[in-house]
Amino acid sequence: MDKLIITAALTGGIHGKEANPALPEQPDEIIREAVRCHEAGAAVVHLHARDRAGRGVADAHIFGEMNQGIRARCGIIIQNTTGGPGLPIDERITSLDAKPEMASLNMGTVVFFHQGKELPFINLRSEIEAFAKAMLDRGIKPEMEVYNPAMLGEVENLIRCDLLARPYYINFVMGVGGMGGYPGTLKNLATMIDLLPPGSIFNVSGIGRAQLPMNTMAMLCGGHARTGFEDCVNYRRGELAQSNAQLVERVARLARELGREVATSDEARTILGMKR
Ligand code: ZN
Repeated sequence: MDKLIITAALTGGIHGKEANPALPEQPDEIIREAVRCHEAGAAVVHLHARDRAGRGVADAHIFGEMNQGIRARCGIIIQNTTGGPGLPIDERITSLDAKPEMASLNMGTVVFFHQGKELPFINLRSEIEAFAKAMLDRGIKPEMEVYNPAMLGEVENLIRCDLLARPYYINFVMGVGGMGGYPGTLKNLATMIDLLPPGSIFNVSGIGRAQLPMNTMAMLCGGHARTGFEDCVNYRRGELAQSNAQLVERVARLARELGREVATSDEARTILGMKR
């Protein structure tokens, strides 16, 4: 098995400090947290931008500020989101202007349920193809966000259209509590792994209580693990996590106990076929 790539998803685009006061929202908080997560064992940091009021935005200047600040302080791989429910599609792609090494690429439409409201997150096939082409043209490695088995058909479509470089890097987002979500169970994860196109490497996120079991199963199955406040703000049931770095430390510790070494950012670049 390859060494384990740990991704820290610090902020997300939905819940904010009301869910956990330690959730970083502003660029200075996010830069500081990215460095701490890198020290704790994260090879990749997944970023969202927030405005001054803490609302999710697709703002190229904020992404630029965060990307430059992190790059000046450590060598962690920066992965900007091109997602964010409710944000206009033509704004979402501007996070690529900050020249991250990686970006997320959402592989279909889901509807999140948050505070009693439905949050549609629309990603059409034509839009996915356009985002993939923009990443390929700029040498940005996509992490394909796959929320259910049907979305693997969209990965196959990008392969057919010759819009992806090998290895294909897929993140299974398990346990989204909305339309199009797929519960984070061992059987469901095994199903997703069985359906992977040849030449793929997989990462696993689990939402809420699915985070820790999905991360652990991913390690055992040869996949990689994403943790952080975007996916879960608790350390354990009824106890808020103190920081993203605390969650990264736990994943790194578990990996070592299970005989899986943790990849540095440079080792992750090699595993993912990326040039620095
Ligand atoms: Zn995200």
